[in-house]
Amino acid sequence: MKNYETIVIGGGAAGIVASISAARAGGSVVICEKMPQLGRKILASGNGRCNLLNDDLRPEFYNATARTLVETIFRKFNKSRMLSFFENLGLKTYSREGRIFPVTNQAASVLKVLEMELQRLSVPVEYNFNCSAISSSRSGIIVSSQDGKEISGTKIIITGGGKTYPAFGADGNIYEIARTLGHTIIEPIPCAVPLVVKDNLCFLLQGQRILARVHSIIDGKTGESIQGELLFTRYGLSGTCILDVSEEISLALHRQHKNDVSLVVDMVPFMEKEELRNIIVRRRKGKVAAEDLLAGILPNKFGAVLKSIPEKDDIDAIITSLKERHFKISGTRGWNEAEFTGGGVAVAEVNPETLESRIKKNVYFAGEILDVNGKRGGYNLAWAWASGWVTGLTG
Ligand SMILES: Cc1cc2nc3c(=O)[nH]c(=O)nc-3n(C[C@H](O)[C@H](O)[C@H](O)COP(=O)(O)OP(=O)(O)OC[C@H]3O[C@@H](n4cnc5c(N)ncnc54)[C@H](O)[C@@H]3O)c2cc1C
Repeated sequence: MKNYETIVIGGGAAGIVASISAARAGGSVVICEKMPQLGRKILASGNGRCNLLNDDLRPEFYNATARTLVETIFRKFNKSRMLSFFENLGLKTYSREGRIFPVTNQAASVLKVLEMELQRLSVPVEYNFNCSAISSSRSGIIVSSQDGKEISGTKIIITGGGKTYPAFGADGNIYEIARTLGHTIIEPIPCAVPLVVKDNLCFLLQGQRILARVHSIIDGKTGESIQGELLFTRYGLSGTCILDVSEEISLALHRQHKNDVSLVVDMVPFMEKEELRNIIVRRRKGKVAAEDLLAGILPNKFGAVLKSIPEKDDIDAIITSLKERHFKISGTRGWNEAEFTGGGVAVAEVNPETLESRIKKNVYFAGEILDVNGKRGGYNLAWAWASGWVTGLTG
């Protein structure tokens, strides 16, 4: 049986950086990766451009339960250390509106420099190694694969990711291993995910993108207002403001099992009601056809929807339907379309200084497998890099 000082389970963002950090510290390291290649999710990140971190990594951009842990880990591997880590690998980056990307605008560049460093450090990778069990032996810990391979080590770093985009490798099977070690798994929910709405308006306007402001109403409680692009789709709503609001909605639907979940959409956030009213009144007086009442304000396709509004209809009702349109949310598009996972291994069960399990000695966790999730904008990869780095250091 092959033996290493450190076995890293999962070769995604967290696992690769954990391996680099452990190998630089001088120990023997192996990566056990389920897929035939490393870093599939890195390649898909940022629409193929990889938004690798953010200029502002304050803990408040992460889920409340994880903030103290995030703060502790970012103190050890902060933004400037992350940037110099990549700079030293030869990756040039730039920042746009706080989001940091490789200058090549290619996620493949990020993965390439990481893989080159693994090669330089002679870190072996066991591909197609689907870890299915971790057990103790007299000399340390044994990691077994589904097809019967075994590797032994002293220290195990588990970086098997969350449940999103299962085709890229992380499909949640790693939670079972954490559970068998005695860990609590906070129920995983899909985040940054499009929403399902049974409303004919979405069907009629599918493909249309507008600037909108949205907020949730969950059991009568109003959520934070978020502005950004909204995309109408055949099944409901997508676009950046929907992805940003989706976490609280997903939580309400999937973890709290609430039924009374809706979204209020302001489809003309750049105009006050009065201004909108004046335009509609003026155009109606000028005998403008119903379908052209909002020409120049909303895409022309909205005309077909307005056409069905009778002339006598109350202008207030029209304005309300544009500025406070309620959509009842019936679901999310689930794991195949979510960008990250909320939930995972409970953060109270790891040592915040090292990320070592408080339950099983010499077992560490990093990346999305932990109940740590940040906003869109580079926060999830930043967590993966930093937590991976810290787990590689100790032991
Ligand atoms: C489409 C998309 C776009 C995104 N864009 C961004 C972005 O631009 N910026 C940002 O910050 N975040 C982004 N994210 C989120 C970010 O990519 C993830 O949070 C991050 O990659 C998590 O890293 P990780 O190493 O923890 O997990 P992963 O990258 O998921 O890696 C886990 C690895 O473990 C392997 N594995 C799983 N189970 C086993 C097992 N049993 N045995 C062996 N190996 C196993 C998997 O195959 C995988 O390679 C995006 C996510 C998606 C899906």
